[in-house]
Amino acid sequence: MSDTAYILYLISSILFILALKGLSSPETARRGNVYGIIGMLLGVLTTFFMPSISNYALILFGIMIGGIIGAVIARKIQMTAMPQLVAAFHSLVGLSAVMVAFAALWSPESYGIGNSGSLHVGRLIEMSLGSVIGAITFSGSLIAFAKLQGIMSGKPIRFADQNKLNMLVGISIALLLVIFCASESRTMFVVMTLLALAIGFLLIIPIGGADMPVVVSMLNSYSGWAASGIGFTLGNPLLIITGALVGSSGAILSYIMCKAMNRSIINVIFGGFGAVSADSGPAAAVNDRPIKNGSAEDAAFMLKNASSVIIVPGYGMAVAQAQHAVRELQVELEKEGITVRFAIHPVAGRMPGHMNVLLAEANVPYDSVVELEEINNDFSTTDVAFVIGANDVTNPAAKNNPQSPIYGMPVLDVENAKTILFIKRSMAAGYAGIENDLFYNENTMMLFGDAKKVTEELIKALKH
Ligand code: NDP
Repeated sequence: MSDTAYILYLISSILFILALKGLSSPETARRGNVYGIIGMLLGVLTTFFMPSISNYALILFGIMIGGIIGAVIARKIQMTAMPQLVAAFHSLVGLSAVMVAFAALWSPESYGIGNSGSLHVGRLIEMSLGSVIGAITFSGSLIAFAKLQGIMSGKPIRFADQNKLNMLVGISIALLLVIFCASESRTMFVVMTLLALAIGFLLIIPIGGADMPVVVSMLNSYSGWAASGIGFTLGNPLLIITGALVGSSGAILSYIMCKAMNRSIINVIFGGFGAVSADSGPAAAVNDRPIKNGSAEDAAFMLKNASSVIIVPGYGMAVAQAQHAVRELQVELEKEGITVRFAIHPVAGRMPGHMNVLLAEANVPYDSVVELEEINNDFSTTDVAFVIGANDVTNPAAKNNPQSPIYGMPVLDVENAKTILFIKRSMAAGYAGIENDLFYNENTMMLFGDAKKVTEELIKALKH
């Protein structure tokens, strides 16, 4: 590789780091994206014009097919389906790592990394790690995709001696890796990769319910490390750096999310965390307890008489695309001199930052958007907690029911507000599949209906 290529790769790596920095805040996210696009373009063009690249037609054909598929998906995808799309993309990164590792082992001469039968042990270790991590990412991401898409049950799947089986498969992979490095046996390599596919599957099936967001970011991290491992095989520094950036940022995000959900990162890495028995916590049972069912006019009256309101957005706001109506509601209330802030739970919605993105899209000022730990104490001095399409992130079972699958997850203390308004379509449960006792609280009023429609009616009532 020429010095120019090294320098261009370095510039592109710096652009990726700036992109990550930009993406860490909604205010700078757009700039971050631009840095990322320029960095990627530079990286691709630098690779494209390397002397070792010869089959331009094939590469352009691949880019064209991938580009068209990507563009169609990007235009069609619903915001609420982003987590499964991300999981599907991770699976492709994993699969490509496995394929490159196989190609390099079967034809090392084409990669300029040595000759079949006498490859350096370092090369064999790189290939093994790329293939094993890639295979785990591939099968794990497919399961995550199937769970998030509803193709398979989102509930944790557990069976007897699951952890022992996982350990056995893990140890077998480690042993095969050693034998492969000593013998360069292709059969060992194939068996090792098949076992890695199995462990990816086994690690993700016991995870479910409210723990899925951590899985998605963990798989994001795995996909980065797989790409980085393959970067070593291909001798491509940009792939090594980019993979490491994805790997470490995914790991940091997982850590932050684990902290937000009060889970242990070790349990996430080794799978099976948060696996509480399926019968824990009451299901979304129909029960006879009375609820207060209000109208948009009732809610408008309460809001008008409030001096402070905290809006708690959740997945339902995303489904209904109610963010613009919510912003209008904020403007209307502020005209009346009412303080309005938004409380953001780290796992509200279906992807990290989901609520921030929607609120930014609706031009909600950043200073009125406050994270859980900063706003939670303020509910006790707030007149109305206006919960729009959120459920699990407010559920007190996380604090007082050790049997609940969300037990230990910090939640927004909306019950401390003088009044809670819940907008949702029915009494149905949220993602974790558990009932929320707050619906029956003395100070709760349910506003049944689509989040956007109800909010628009509420604004109309406020204006009159
Ligand atoms: P929940 O899934 O707990 O609840 C959403 C509520 O929105 C439902 O109870 C539903 O009730 C209501 N809803 C759905 N559509 C509409 C609509 N059109 N109008 C009004 N209401 C609607 O969401 P939360 O945001 O509170 O919590 C997120 C959950 O998702 C957590 O359990 C989290 O762990 C999990 N998760 C989060 C991910 C992330 O990265 N953020 C990724 C994967 C899972 P009804 O049907 O009655 O209307």
